[in-house]
Amino acid sequence: MFKCAICKSKMSKDNINKVGIQCDNCGAKIFYKERPNVKKVLKAR
Ligand SMILES: [Zn+2]
Repeated sequence: MFKCAICKSKMSKDNINKVGIQCDNCGAKIFYKERPNVKKVLKAR
């Protein structure tokens, strides 16, 4: 998942075309990579 740097809308990899990745919303080409939530939960016994 990518996040648009301008309008913060989420983009999937389907939006990547030949030119690169472009926001459907605002047409920006600056994106942040969004990491999936990988949280380690440690349970104390
Ligand atoms: Zn955007």
